[in-house]
This record gives sequence, structure tokens and C-alpha cells, in this order.
Amino acid sequence: MSDCIFCKIVDGKIPAKKVYEDEDILAFNDISPARPVHVLVIPKKHITSLATATADDTLVLGRILGKANEIAVAQGSPDGFRVIINTGRVGQQEVPHLHAHIVGGPDPVGPMLKRL
Ligand code: 5GP
Ligand code: ZN
Repeated sequence: MSDCIFCKIVDGKIPAKKVYEDEDILAFNDISPARPVHVLVIPKKHITSLATATADDTLVLGRILGKANEIAVAQGSPDGFRVIINTGRVGQQEVPHLHAHIVGGPDPVGPMLKRL
């Protein structure tokens, strides 16, 4: 999708620090890291969000999760990590190209959400 910032990273039109790539997915460091390890893993194909993904996207979604540990360990989070996929308005997704945040580092990442 021509107007999409993450599609532009896939196409090499916007630079990013890539940490993993294969024919289906790309992982790169978040530009504004929230933890010592903060990688975004995206499908190379434009999928707007988990809310618009279809059955055809199942394989690539599995690949994103299936590579998460390998990416986390390689980037300096050997003892676990958190995956976050913000989705749509309620999930406060800012970039409308599906992405999994992998956050971690040497220390625990903190509480998941404030309790109601
Ligand atoms: P969201 O809120 O959509 O789940 O997260 C979007 C993430 O993309 C944010 O953590 C933000 O820092 C990151 N981001 C936005 N623009 C860019 C960019 O141009 N390059 C990189 N590497 N990360 C970006
Ligand atoms: Zn896109």
C-alpha cells in the first residue's frame, strides 16, 4: 500500500534497523523503544490489523509468533519477552499495518495493564 509507512520500510523507501527478514515477514527496531529490546515484526504483505486479517493470513500470523523467541533472544532478551499487537481504535493502534511488538531485555517489562 503506497501510503503506508511500514510498507515503505518493506520496500526500502524508509530506513529501518532490520533484525530479521524472510520472504514473508520483516522485523526491525522500533524507532522509539519502550524497553531495551523493542522490535516490530510485520507481514511484508499489507494487512491493516488483526481486525481485518482473514483466513488467508493465518500462516503469516503464525510465522510472526513463531519467530518471536528467536528474535528476542538474538536481540538481548534471553529469558522471555512480551508480545503486544495493538488493534484498531480501542487497542490504540497508531500504524495501520499489522505489527507485533516484541518487548524485553534483561529485566521484567512491568505490569501488563492497570487493573480496573
Ligand atoms: P502501535 O501504536 O501502532 O502499536 O505502534 C506503532 C509503533 O511504530 C510505535 O511504537 C512507534 O514508535 C513505531 N514507529 C512509528 N513510525 C516508525 C518508523 O518510521 N520506524 C520505526 N522503526 N518505528 C516506527
Ligand atoms: Zn502497509
